[in-house]
Amino acid sequence: MKLLDGKAVSRELLKKVKADIDHYIEKKHLGYNLSRPSIAIVMVGHNAASESYVRGKIKACERAEINHKIIRFDESISTFDLISEIKILNKSHFDGFIVQLPLPDHIDPKPIINEISAYKDIDGFHPLNFGKMALGQKAMRPATAYGILKLLEYYDITTKSQHVVVIGRSNIVGKPISIMLGNDFEIGRSTVTSCDINTPKALLKEEAQKADIVIVAVGQAGFLTADMIKEGAVVIDVGINRLKSGKLVGDCDFEEVSKKAGFITPVPGGVGPMTIAGLILNTFEAWKMKHLIEN
Ligand code: NAD
Repeated sequence: MKLLDGKAVSRELLKKVKADIDHYIEKKHLGYNLSRPSIAIVMVGHNAASESYVRGKIKACERAEINHKIIRFDESISTFDLISEIKILNKSHFDGFIVQLPLPDHIDPKPIINEISAYKDIDGFHPLNFGKMALGQKAMRPATAYGILKLLEYYDITTKSQHVVVIGRSNIVGKPISIMLGNDFEIGRSTVTSCDINTPKALLKEEAQKADIVIVAVGQAGFLTADMIKEGAVVIDVGINRLKSGKLVGDCDFEEVSKKAGFITPVPGGVGPMTIAGLILNTFEAWKMKHLIEN
């Protein structure tokens, strides 16, 4: 079994983004003195997990030398006021921004996400970006799915003609990764089976047992057990679950599954850092788009 070290791969990608930004700044693209990319992170209220994720995002910004600012709002902010703040951010100097989820219960995230300018949507959640991604067009991509593709690419894991089973179909993880792996790109061209809570357990198990790659994103510790995968399968564990003991674990029974898998992501240190890398890659994309830099 080989560990897919998201932490190390993420660091390499951030180093490359920093070097690429340096390059464009030194080159004075179109004769302009470019300033480094800058992003804002909107936080509403205090959520312990969000605080920790945001610390990781800030560390990544520092590595890539991307300017960043946290903008905090009180837990009691209304949907109307939050949308007004987003409208201001859409017109601000920031190259991109995110609204850290989850939001308090009284705020529906959908209208909030829809209000973010698609050009500044570095989480890749806006319907325009999601639609472009689904059509295989250049877009800011949902950061976790993007990070998973980059991890597969880094380890040279073939996806073409492979059978991939994705367990979980949320708009931010399961659905986009299923679409992206089915798209006609080098990291793609897979035969994808998408499962969710409505998939009969026996069918889900049967499909997973045949899969070359299993991606699990359900949010339940110990969900994927060793009897659900075939020998040598690639296992991407997206889940983040905190046990009563305080320990962070993913969605698979790591001890047993790792004995049978060919490759596996650890939790922590697997998909989490790659999600942040996806965010930084989207930021770089937004910055290049703003300054008319072609790839
Ligand atoms: P979600 O709750 O929005 O969606 C969960 C999905 O799993 C749904 O489609 C649901 O139908 C499916 N599901 C639930 N129980 C199931 C079952 N018994 N059988 C089959 N499908 C089942 O969750 P999400 O936002 O997609 O997140 C999933 C997990 O991934 C969570 O633990 C979350 O914390 C984690 N996550 C991690 C990262 C990261 O960077 N590592 C990023 C996002 C989410």
